[in-house]
Parts: sequence; structure tokens; C-alpha cells
Amino acid sequence: MRKPEICRYCGGVIRLVPAKQVLGASARRLGQEREYIYQCQNCNARVGCHKGTDQPLGNVANETLRLKRMETHKVFDAFWKSRHMTRHNAYKWLSQQLRLPMSETHIAGFEMDQCQRVIELCGTEEREGAA
Ligand SMILES: [Zn+2]
Repeated sequence: MRKPEICRYCGGVIRLVPAKQVLGASARRLGQEREYIYQCQNCNARVGCHKGTDQPLGNVANETLRLKRMETHKVFDAFWKSRHMTRHNAYKWLSQQLRLPMSETHIAGFEMDQCQRVIELCGTEEREGAA
């Protein structure tokens, strides 16, 4: 994933900033204390990095997309936990379903359509599992 420099929403300048600076007190709770975030200095669109690196997880997200990514995470986590899958196996399954390499299977970097696809996949599997 290329490092973002110009915001795709507003054309503003994107900087790599410490997550603490963006998330404040919740950085610790989110395990982001030592991590970095790409943030648009104009509109606050942002995206996190692969742990311990400055490699972005995807494109910067505005508030709408950030909420969608969070919702998707919630649905996906509930899905694999209810099936007693390991986190690793869950992501392996997801990468196969989406035909993405594991290294790109990060909900925190997904676009709207990818998020929607994850939510639908979880729903389909739930129904098939129940049948
Ligand atoms: Zn922006």
C-alpha cells in the first residue's frame, strides 16, 4: 500500500502522526500507544498502520467509512468468536473468501464495498451454518 500524501476527500496534506495524538486517552485501551496514524491535517480523514511500522493498512477514511469499518469489525469478530475459530483462522478464511492476500486482509483498511461484502459473508455463513 502506498503511503498517502494527499487526502482523497479534500486534497489536504496527510501526515504520519503518533496515534496517541489522534486518539488521546483511548490509545492505550486500543493497543495503539506506540503506533502511528496517517491523518489528513485538513479534514481528519485517517488510517492506521501495520503494527510497529509506518505501512498504512489502506486508504484514509472519512467519518462515514471509519464507522463502517468499525461496524464490520464488530460483525466479523462476533462471527468468528461464535464459531470458536481462532483469530488467525478467521482472517485466513476471510482472505480466501475475498481473494486477497493475508497481508491485505485488514478491515481497518477496507473500502465501503469490501466492508459490505464481509458483513454479507458473515450473514450467509451464519444462515448456512444454522440450516
Ligand atoms: Zn482531507
